[in-house]
Amino acid sequence: MAKGEMSAYAVPVDATSGRCFKEETASGRTEFQRDRDRIIHSTAFRRLEYKTQVFVNHEGDHFRTRLTHSLEVAQIARSVAANLGLNVDLVEAISLAHDLGHTPFGHSGQDALNESMAAYGGFEHNLQSLRVVDHLELRYAQFDGLNLCFETREGILKHCALKNAQELGDVGRRFIDNQRPSLEAQLANVADGLAYNNHDIDDGLRSGLLQIEDMINLPIFGQHLRDVAKEYPSIGVHRRISESIRRTVNSFVVDLTNESDRLINEASPSSLQDVRESCELIRFSEAMEGKHRELQEYLHKHLYRHYKVQRMADKAKRVVRNLFKAFEDDPGLLPTRYQVQARADTPRAISDYIAGMTDRYAMKEYRQIFLIDPV
Ligand code: MG
Repeated sequence: MAKGEMSAYAVPVDATSGRCFKEETASGRTEFQRDRDRIIHSTAFRRLEYKTQVFVNHEGDHFRTRLTHSLEVAQIARSVAANLGLNVDLVEAISLAHDLGHTPFGHSGQDALNESMAAYGGFEHNLQSLRVVDHLELRYAQFDGLNLCFETREGILKHCALKNAQELGDVGRRFIDNQRPSLEAQLANVADGLAYNNHDIDDGLRSGLLQIEDMINLPIFGQHLRDVAKEYPSIGVHRRISESIRRTVNSFVVDLTNESDRLINEASPSSLQDVRESCELIRFSEAMEGKHRELQEYLHKHLYRHYKVQRMADKAKRVVRNLFKAFEDDPGLLPTRYQVQARADTPRAISDYIAGMTDRYAMKEYRQIFLIDPV
């Protein structure tokens, strides 16, 4: 297949199974381009700039944020999609929207909010991303949310407990029927892991929490570090790291493209329905999957559980937990919009408010509520 040509197993360019609220088709844009544009223009998307990936936003200007992470996921996913004959616009829309529901302070924020919401159905960032695009963005005259296409919404919902799937209707159906989502959704999911593994190595080294000498024996990245040093002995350490990261991303992208191509050819799906009934077809080869996992484990042990990261995470949890408790004790402290929502469901209104906060907004709100003399 020529690069950029769409295959029979891709989600067709203009054949969405629909939006919740029926709209006229847009002139000059496909339905999925329109979804992508709505996501980029949303408030939740702009907030990603000030939400933590691993390092809290104020810790440095060059660390990834949820926004740059989402852009990197979209870039990787688009390149692979074009090579596999998939719907590039859909994969881009899903990638850009996949983290819209993330709380402030990364995973520690999510864990704290989930604990606070334990008695009220819990909190899960995937489900929250869907809530953002389905309900929480208020910018269109005719409907709440962004009224995205079914395929985009389905792609945003990566995983989902059966209990929640039953409440979600059509978009949760595949979890009940044990079916796969589109290849575009599968690709955005794998590109997410690929992107963060690589950029977290980069950020970990930049922060000084990871050391290059300790990583020389890691699979793929360690090999590239050694090769680059041999080929270019006089380049500085920053260029050596960047060149090695670039090559590592490329190694994973090439493997993902080749293995997925092989699996698709083997399963030879001739329609989207075949894709749904097949096993997952967008994957790394087994060997590369193992190496990917090894890098992930290394990051867990040496970066995510580093005491300096843990200290910030602990503080972040306290901020989220205490904010939740204060609003729960007195919903009258919530801004008006959330007070209105709280009349129907107080815990969910608090959860929506906190989940929407950026890191710095959460810290400011914490000072406003708990300090007598907020600075
Ligand atoms: Mg992500």
